[in-house]
Amino acid sequence: MSTFTDLGLIEPLLRALTAEGYTTPTPIQTQAIPMLLAGRDMLGIAQTGTGKTAAFALPILQRMSENRTKAAPRCPRALILTPTRELAVQIGEGFGTYGKHLGFKRAVIYGGVGQGPQVSAMNAGVEILVATPGRLLDLMNQRHINLQHVEFLVLDEADRMLDMGFIRDVKVIVSKIVAQRQTLLFSATMPEAVMSLAKGILKEYERVEVTPQSTTVERIDQRIMFVARDDKRKLLVELLKDKSMSRTLVFTRTKHCANRVAEVLAKSGISADAIHGNKSQNARQRSLDAFKSGRARVLVATDIAARGIDVDGISHVINYELPADPESYVHRIGRTARAGTTGAAISFCDAEEVSDLRAIERATRQSIAVDTTHAFHAAHVATRSERNGGQKTPQRQPQRNRSGRGGGGGGRNGSGGGGSGRPWENRSRAA
Ligand code: AMP
Repeated sequence: MSTFTDLGLIEPLLRALTAEGYTTPTPIQTQAIPMLLAGRDMLGIAQTGTGKTAAFALPILQRMSENRTKAAPRCPRALILTPTRELAVQIGEGFGTYGKHLGFKRAVIYGGVGQGPQVSAMNAGVEILVATPGRLLDLMNQRHINLQHVEFLVLDEADRMLDMGFIRDVKVIVSKIVAQRQTLLFSATMPEAVMSLAKGILKEYERVEVTPQSTTVERIDQRIMFVARDDKRKLLVELLKDKSMSRTLVFTRTKHCANRVAEVLAKSGISADAIHGNKSQNARQRSLDAFKSGRARVLVATDIAARGIDVDGISHVINYELPADPESYVHRIGRTARAGTTGAAISFCDAEEVSDLRAIERATRQSIAVDTTHAFHAAHVATRSERNGGQKTPQRQPQRNRSGRGGGGGGRNGSGGGGSGRPWENRSRAA
């Protein structure tokens, strides 16, 4: 088995990796790092979770440090394009972590926020720029960014760029970069359009393909329960009659809702506590201790309050309300199934949350199994949406699980006979 030293990495990078607790390179790192250090272009078929960020960040950092130049205003040397703000931030942090002893300046730019700080950062000069395509193009058009000196180009999650309609922007951006660059393209899947993009932008390239190790999310038994908003309390109390829900973390969107849910549970004789930003640090610690020790079987939390909760042995995560963004969904359910154990996550979904559910399924590339053990709740969703305007419920194509694993319609969900249990797909069941 190779080590990071065997891969030819320099001491400042090795030191950073040791500090991070990385001892062994992942398969994509083992394959990619030597060829990238040698200056080759690369097509990487790999998903997030395989260690691909380090696989490209480490060799780029090393090659940049071998040929140091002063950071020039507006002119980055390395450009990493990625489809979402969350990924951009994550990749920026990766470069920060791995390159902490090399002293390169970096910036992360994405849309949906003011451009002022991003423009200032570019003016001050950065060597490494991580960006989403739309905002990057916008700032290029305003002449705040110039890509003439880009030596390293990474196109991350190319298939998602395609899905999200960014490919045209990407092509415009790439056309502004000189041909003598090292180019890397990563994608979890290789549809025709991504392959032709790859051929258009890569020189002679090496192809590296890795299958992801099972991630935490895949070890979690995920289920959706369609339920009318007003029935969520009843459903929660009903579910918690199951004693196998020994340590259950319930998520709500608001502090107010967290309090209310904890009260309802307490009234039903279920030991529960709420944790959120309105509580003092001491009160939060007390709630957390009660949950850890088992004095409280249920902890009701908001996303922000739950950050940093590291409690072993959480048997179930319940999304009483779905989060507005898929990243939060993944963070929430990742509280269970820690350290190689399994866990379960049940999400309540009312009529207004259906679009949130779709966003989660799209982002996590899976179709979450529908649990119809409480089938009458689905009927409530449909009746409610009919009351709210009476339009036809939108038709929906079943989501493909692009990783080829898992997927909806597991045996447990009781929705056999071809029905998905989704109220928007299966009117006869719901009506
Ligand atoms: P990525 O696929 O780049 O999103 O990485 C997935 C996760 O694995 C990140 O949290 C990294 O910090 C972590 N990671 C990457 N490489 C290694 C490694 N060689 N050893 C341990 N953890 C790693």
